[in-house]
Amino acid sequence: MFADLHLHTNFSDGTYTPEELAARGRHAGLAAMALTDHDTVEGCARMAAACDALGIEFISGTELTAEHGGHEVHLLGYFIDTRHERLLAEIAQFQTVRQNRVREMVARLNRLRVPLDAETVFALANCRSPGRPHVARALVNAGLCGSLDEAFERFLKKHRPAWVPKFKMSAAHAIALVHAAGGLAVMAHPGLNRTDDVIPGLAQAGLDGLECFHSKHSTAMMEHYLALAEEHRLLVTGGSDCHGDSKGKPLVGTVKLPYDYVARLKARVAASAASAPERPPAGSRPPP
Ligand code: AMP
Ligand code: ZN
Ligand code: FE
Ligand code: FE
Repeated sequence: MFADLHLHTNFSDGTYTPEELAARGRHAGLAAMALTDHDTVEGCARMAAACDALGIEFISGTELTAEHGGHEVHLLGYFIDTRHERLLAEIAQFQTVRQNRVREMVARLNRLRVPLDAETVFALANCRSPGRPHVARALVNAGLCGSLDEAFERFLKKHRPAWVPKFKMSAAHAIALVHAAGGLAVMAHPGLNRTDDVIPGLAQAGLDGLECFHSKHSTAMMEHYLALAEEHRLLVTGGSDCHGDSKGKPLVGTVKLPYDYVARLKARVAASAASAPERPPAGSRPPP
């Protein structure tokens, strides 16, 4: 039995609906799937229903954009209560930040005489958590760039002319927020951020796990992070980080996390719920 615990839908910058994603997970033979859309939990209810219908265990989640010591860190929150009021209120603020950032990126493109308008990007994104991939797709659709890579290389990559820095919550705050919502906080794709020095501090701040298995991790990275997880007594997770069809072949199910790791996550979340009765009960299933 295997799981894929890092997946995106069209509720953020993935291209699949929750139903399409669940069907592909079923096709890949997954026993469990977690949805981790950027700064949102909106897709969780539909994904839960779709997984249920296919006999797949669903784990609610999100991927929060955060920073620690000047480094961008992505924090996965698992088993969160998707109706938790403070979580929803804080997420809504970051969605506003994302929407304003799209407007600013478009304004910069316009100053470069690239005639895109923000409403086109919002219509294409059709979600509350728009980001650079949506701007890139809009540029390609309008014939203003030949490919998504070209859009990032010319305009959207860090320090390129239409790049706009994104305001982020601190990683310690994100960890506390995930805990308040009854979940476990896991550092996503540490091998891509190349900032191992933040791991001891985050472990100190209550980080629960490290995403050792990831589609962009080499074998050497995987082994390195498994050793770091052991050293800092962190749980181990893994996922493909599938964004749908937007980046070549779909990745869902290409990272196969043995189910034992999921069982360990569930044991930890149950233990923390038992030791902190004031916390809302953590469920692996969002409300209907
Ligand atoms: P944002 O959250 O708006 O900053 O967008 C980040 C997303 O853009 C990431 O999840 C990546 O999937 C995607 N991305 C970042 N850099 C590139 C790139 N050079 N080429 C294609 N996609 C990228
Ligand atoms: Zn993404
Ligand atoms: Fe990420
Ligand atoms: Fe991701």
